[in-house]
Amino acid sequence: MKTQFDEILIEEKEIRARVSELAAQLSEDYRDRDPLLVCVLKGAVFFMADLVREITISCELDFMAVSSYGSATDSSGVVRILKDLDANIEGRNVIIVEDIIDTGLTISYLMKNLRARNPASVEVCTLLTKPTRRKADVNCRYVGFEVPDQFVIGYGLDYREDYRNLRFIAALPEEDSR
Ligand code: 5GP
Repeated sequence: MKTQFDEILIEEKEIRARVSELAAQLSEDYRDRDPLLVCVLKGAVFFMADLVREITISCELDFMAVSSYGSATDSSGVVRILKDLDANIEGRNVIIVEDIIDTGLTISYLMKNLRARNPASVEVCTLLTKPTRRKADVNCRYVGFEVPDQFVIGYGLDYREDYRNLRFIAALPEEDSR
């Protein structure tokens, strides 16, 4: 990891504070509903880990992996399930935990796919959203932060598998994306 980050968009302590707020909201909204939180690998892994440790009600975790990108920074709209859920979600209250919603194509596909399995409910909790890039209409109830139309890295988000371990969220420096 060679780059200096002149453009930190969200500092570690802002992330921590917002994650706590989202967890408090989920704990209230899902009281007595035993939600199943579905982490979309790999980008949402730190968000999921921090979020569930702040949730104060009983909940379960599961994981999915999808591939949605043709190239490193541009969405192809084609979604493939690389790893499916272990749990049967019929009758369950599902919360999809995502790192970022960009065009919305991935999350739309996932919601449609999971709804077809007859859960009691499906909602989305995303750390980040880039609303200006939307191609699909997505109803996302829980959102951490809005970010501008820049490619972002850190706190789970990668560029070619690097930078996931940053404690903050930054814009990818131009010279790195070439
Ligand atoms: P969408 O289908 O909404 O365009 O893209 C969703 C997925 O693309 C995200 O789950 C994430 O993996 C990836 N993605 C979109 N924008 C960014 C970004 O700015 N940075 C990184 N690292 N990944 C992104």
